[in-house]
Amino acid sequence: MATIEPLRAFSDNYIWLFDDGAGRAFVVDPGDPQPVRAALEARGLALEAILVTHHHFDHVGGVEALKAETGCTVYGPDNPDLPFIDRRLRDGDAVTVLGVAFDVLTVPGHTLDHIAYFAAAPGPVLFCGDPLFAGGCGRLFEGTAAMMHASLQRLADLPADTAVYCAHEYTQANLAFASAAEPGNAALAARVAEVRERRGRDEPTVPSSIALERETNPFLRPDADGILAGLSAAGQAPAADSVGRFAQLRAWKDSF
Ligand code: ZN
Ligand code: FE
Repeated sequence: MATIEPLRAFSDNYIWLFDDGAGRAFVVDPGDPQPVRAALEARGLALEAILVTHHHFDHVGGVEALKAETGCTVYGPDNPDLPFIDRRLRDGDAVTVLGVAFDVLTVPGHTLDHIAYFAAAPGPVLFCGDPLFAGGCGRLFEGTAAMMHASLQRLADLPADTAVYCAHEYTQANLAFASAAEPGNAALAARVAEVRERRGRDEPTVPSSIALERETNPFLRPDADGILAGLSAAGQAPAADSVGRFAQLRAWKDSF
């Protein structure tokens, strides 16, 4: 049976390891080669592929070494600054990796080259890198608020039961902000308690689900009454449109 497991890297990155149950694996965003080598060796797995979401070093730092050592195929964005990509992917492309059929979605905002990988089967899964986090979203390093808002709404439109495999364990800090942005959200309060327990046991809080993100992630909810109230309570007159409120939330989080 296939499994998906997190490999911890740096202080808070997750490199996702897909094990097909028949001795083969792919990894998503290996910023550091060492945890991947250790996992492959411990499990006796052959690395067949690497999926890259964007160009940041904490996501690609291990790609060249792992490719040289294993001869795996590297999938990633169509970014000329990434010479090690074998299959350059654009919006709407379909790729099958170890039997998993992925649709490629471009999701600019955190970076301009950012892509995400969605598969409807064996149970909907999303490998999304850094635009959508559990309870939060990535910083706007290269794109605009309008771009990021559109990217997040695209992800929010995926099936509710999609498991969301993002690339960082930022959930507790994200939810602290979310609680300030939407203080009356009961589902959010329940999530805060659950996440506190899990982190107390040093367990990952990822994967999340699209359903949970729609209910509790302020960056997917700029139209919610509770967000309008949260902005007002923080002394910010809510902007007239969704993108404007999204930008207010992102700027507020940057200094939170
Ligand atoms: Zn990044
Ligand atoms: Fe990152």
